[in-house]
Amino acid sequence: MKGRPPKRRGTPRGKQAKHVDARRVLDPTAWRKELLAGEIGTIVRDAPLRVGLCYPLPYRTAMSSLGYQVIYRMLNSRSFIAAERVLLPDDVPLWRERRWQPVGLETGRPLASFDLLAFSVTYDLDITGFFDLLDLGGVPLLRADRRDTDPPILLGGPLTASNPLPFGPFIDLAVIGDGEVAVERLLDILEGAPDRDAFLAAAAAVPGVWVPQIHGDRVPAVQKVTTGLPAYGQIVTPATELSNMFLVEASRGCPRYCKFCLVRAPESPMRESEVERVLATIPEHAPRVGFVGAAVSEWSGIREALRRVVAMGKGASVSSLRADRLDEDFVALLAAAGYRSMTIASDAPSQRLRNTVGKAIREKHLWRAAELGKQAGMQKVKLYVIVGLPGETDADIDELIAFSKALSGLLPTALGVSPLVPKLHTPLGDAEFAGMPLVDERLHRLRRELGATVDVRSTSAKWAWVEYRMSQGAEDAGLAALAAWRAGGGFSAWRDAFEAVEERGALRAARQHQLFPAAGMR
Ligand code: SF4
Repeated sequence: MKGRPPKRRGTPRGKQAKHVDARRVLDPTAWRKELLAGEIGTIVRDAPLRVGLCYPLPYRTAMSSLGYQVIYRMLNSRSFIAAERVLLPDDVPLWRERRWQPVGLETGRPLASFDLLAFSVTYDLDITGFFDLLDLGGVPLLRADRRDTDPPILLGGPLTASNPLPFGPFIDLAVIGDGEVAVERLLDILEGAPDRDAFLAAAAAVPGVWVPQIHGDRVPAVQKVTTGLPAYGQIVTPATELSNMFLVEASRGCPRYCKFCLVRAPESPMRESEVERVLATIPEHAPRVGFVGAAVSEWSGIREALRRVVAMGKGASVSSLRADRLDEDFVALLAAAGYRSMTIASDAPSQRLRNTVGKAIREKHLWRAAELGKQAGMQKVKLYVIVGLPGETDADIDELIAFSKALSGLLPTALGVSPLVPKLHTPLGDAEFAGMPLVDERLHRLRRELGATVDVRSTSAKWAWVEYRMSQGAEDAGLAALAAWRAGGGFSAWRDAFEAVEERGALRAARQHQLFPAAGMR
């Protein structure tokens, strides 16, 4: 059965981006109308099968996700599917109090009335937004409680490459890792499936698709897709963190070997697209272009692409810069594209630990990057660092403090500090969390000794611990998250919920049952 043609598609030329604040309190109808009025590229269509493309975070973040936009266009390219975005409200308690339901942004369709809900999830703690959306929409959270009339729930997004197990009790199926190929197969199955059971049974045979009620906790191996580049955004909007920016992914993966990273070369080798193909995706109306990816400065075409984008009169942003890839030419291009601060990653507090974790960067590279930024007129340097690494000592933190102080003499300096949350399927996946007391002590020391000269920002030790338990947990961790969410979602609720889960047993479960290429699935 063919769907009707789109009512509005692509780019209405000359449409002016206007300022929109996605966080203003508006009822759902006014809220969606205001957001739609500011967008270019929205797809509004009707078709026999309606998919709610859900994001468990608010609009500002959701629309900065390239993967979310790619799936939106992919689903809407099928004649029998109309996909619309369903986003977490900014003020969930207010929506709950007023009994407002999450709706599809494009047509206002209530969440519960979609034929399929497809969630894109990036971080472990996004599970609370997942609960909020379903709960506001009146869909039972546990799969076992749902009726045949409730929409099945599909999980996708970057989190699936790490540990989707905690979502097991709540979802019907998940696409693991790079989703493009598996999603296309699923859509073929969906078009012909007579009912939900037939759909799930056929979906379970697709490589990279996990159906918990069929596979149990045997999650299939991550799919590494070699096609699909360049991937590019669909909607340009002023109401996001990346305001009025057209997003494009020219490369995927990374040629490096950092031991804490899921995107390292053995797991996700570097794949590239040609410059001309990337540039051909950029629409005239986009004032800014965001080159996104884990290792954009490793892409062989990045300089040429920046040069050409600047020549078009557009601004540009690069989501990841490696300090040892920078030189005068590169940094001058960044400045011409609108960069006002130099953002680089040290990823460990000392040279000794950078060597240990495989971060092949030297202090001289970080220093040189800041110098180049200053020469190019940038006003700030932002340095990202991980603390709580295995084997870390006070001497490593001494080195970070000394370097940060020196750097702040060159340029105003901001330090973004993240406690290590070991991720499964990385060489540090079996590492222990450093512990809340130690991480707290490290963070307090950095603030105390750098506070006057360096802007220190960090994730708290408490929430890093919660993320650790989720990132290494099995289905028990998902049920603990549900209990914590029901108890208000504060840290003490999480701690109490996890106390009920035997820590070592749960960790063992996740490590043993994750990501086997199950028999018959390849
Ligand atoms: S941390 Fe960055 S440089 Fe290291 S492997 Fe990951 S993406 Fe590559």
